[in-house]
Amino acid sequence: MAGSAHRAPLSDVQLRVRALESLLIEKGAVNRDALDAIIDHYENKVGPHIGARVVAKAWADPDFKARLLQDASGALAELGFTGIEGSHMVVVENTDKIHNLVVCTLCSCYPWPVLGLPPNWYKSTPYRAKAVRDPRGLLKEFGLELAEETEVRVWDSNAEIRYLVLPKRPDGTENMSEEELQEIITRDSMVGTGLVAFQQ
Ligand code: FE
Repeated sequence: MAGSAHRAPLSDVQLRVRALESLLIEKGAVNRDALDAIIDHYENKVGPHIGARVVAKAWADPDFKARLLQDASGALAELGFTGIEGSHMVVVENTDKIHNLVVCTLCSCYPWPVLGLPPNWYKSTPYRAKAVRDPRGLLKEFGLELAEETEVRVWDSNAEIRYLVLPKRPDGTENMSEEELQEIITRDSMVGTGLVAFQQ
């Protein structure tokens, strides 16, 4: 319809990014096509569906799961999931007794090769602060109330190490194929702000 092709005015940050990008290209520091390819890759091709493939495989294949927990980067490389912002990956497993939550207290470090780009809330100051100060309270805001006896472990991602949560496989999914399992595995369950839910 009329007007639908119009874009919203650029925000301050967007303008700064544009300016920086132009400058880098002008100075020959980066190549426009290479930059576009990287942005397209992480915006459109990589996302939580990759992480879901990893988790589903770990649920279905105990040997792969063992390798994933021992050497996540190596196990992910077996599947071809490598790349910038994920050269040193660590996978932490949720169990009946332990719930893992991932944050980057300094900025927004996130496992790009398996989850794509981080959502805005992950980058927000309130999330980063509360994940450390009051993780249970934070999880409640995400609609997740854990049992008192469940231990919450908070993992602070940084430039070197990126964490991915291996969520618990829900009851009732024993007969599901890896492809079917992938459908129910959410981004939040792999950051630790959610659980994988399954209704029979
Ligand atoms: Fe960071």
